[in-house]
Amino acid sequence: MRKTPQRMCAGCRQMKDKKELVRIVRTPEGEVLMDSTGKQSGRGVYLCRDLKCLEQAEKGRRLEKSLSHPVSVEVKEALKEALKEASDGRSS
Ligand SMILES: [Zn+2]
Repeated sequence: MRKTPQRMCAGCRQMKDKKELVRIVRTPEGEVLMDSTGKQSGRGVYLCRDLKCLEQAEKGRRLEKSLSHPVSVEVKEALKEALKEASDGRSS
């Protein structure tokens, strides 16, 4: 049986199923965006669908480090909104 690919969350640093994580990608064009399809090419970093993990990653500047690129406030705000929605959807 094939296992689901595992990726490390940049916040809590736990290995999780790829499909449980959100991917943030730096495109070859130098844009940083949230990759909802998982198919965007470029260098990616993964986060749990949990605001706490985003906060932890922000504190350690791990998104920037992993992507070797600054992550704009706009991207972070968009991520927060998306994570909020994801966690709301799960609890209801
Ligand atoms: Zn996490």
